[in-house]
Amino acid sequence: DALIADGTTVQFEAVAAVRRVKNTIRLARLVMTETNNCFFVADGADQLADKLGIPLIANVELITDKELAQFRERAKAAQTRKGTGTVGAVAIDAQGRLAAATSTGGIPDKKKGRVGDSPIFGAGTYANPDAAASATGQGENIMRFFLCKEAADRACHLAAPEAVVRAMDFLVQHIPLPEAGIILIDAQGNLGATHTTNAMPIAWVDEDGEIGASMTMRGWA
Ligand code: ASP
Repeated sequence: DALIADGTTVQFEAVAAVRRVKNTIRLARLVMTETNNCFFVADGADQLADKLGIPLIANVELITDKELAQFRERAKAAQTRKGTGTVGAVAIDAQGRLAAATSTGGIPDKKKGRVGDSPIFGAGTYANPDAAASATGQGENIMRFFLCKEAADRACHLAAPEAVVRAMDFLVQHIPLPEAGIILIDAQGNLGATHTTNAMPIAWVDEDGEIGASMTMRGWA
């Protein structure tokens, strides 16, 4: 699943339940520039990728040896795995224009056809002229409460670090252990990040090209 959003125009393009595309965010980007639609799913999204020149791969190529071994271990012990592997990005340009993007393989052991929060505008990804946000974690919890839109709304009158904490507090009021994380950038270029997951690796680059990174940034605990 993937979604890319332009905060200036408040436009998004998304794909979900894609099976044969390696970098789904590239497909979402092409939906933005090459079609008049916003959201493609499943076979239709794969077919569109093919039509737009993105090479289709066999779904099995997306399975890593490590994931397969872990899956087999879990199956033997009838366990499920927690934890996720989403990539989210928020950005501001020199003109103050905001954008957000998220792509994900979804949650471990997800069922065929299951779609999470990432490609749902306002839930797992959101951008408007005031803020851009991307979320990670258990999508079923995030999409019920439109976590990214909640954080962006708060960023209209709060600094980015506080806006994400308040949005997460709101989620926690409804779901005590939501397994969620969020990153946000506001129109002044301030960053906010918080998570209820054990860790959330974050990296950023400032206007001078300085790179920073953190394994965890827990504004909420
Ligand atoms: N939020 C994603 C989903 O539920 C998973 C993740 O963040 O890793 O599909």
